[in-house]
Amino acid sequence: MPQEIEIAVADLPDCRRCTAAPLLTARFPYSWQNARDEKVTGFREVMLCQQCDRGTPAADALLALFAVDSQLDLANVETFATLVRTWLEETQERTVDLQLLDMEWDQWQRGNL
Ligand SMILES: [Zn+2]
Repeated sequence: MPQEIEIAVADLPDCRRCTAAPLLTARFPYSWQNARDEKVTGFREVMLCQQCDRGTPAADALLALFAVDSQLDLANVETFATLVRTWLEETQERTVDLQLLDMEWDQWQRGNL
């Protein structure tokens, strides 16, 4: 799992899938080996959309927290952090192919593919 995750809950861009306003975005560093066996690092951003992200256990748990707690405070911040991490793990499992596509696109842009 990534070490540093930046969470944003305000001033978010529209959901790329349905154009609704997402509930949060998470941005984290990730890295991979390119075709020359060099380590390439970058950032990846995922968003939680209440229209598009229903139906998986971690996303539903996080959406449920937003439904009852629209304000984050010290009482729920640990629950929130745990749910976000679980959701990111779930998201990464689900978007492996997308990550691969991003990687290949990035390599292509750098002339490494
Ligand atoms: Zn959406």
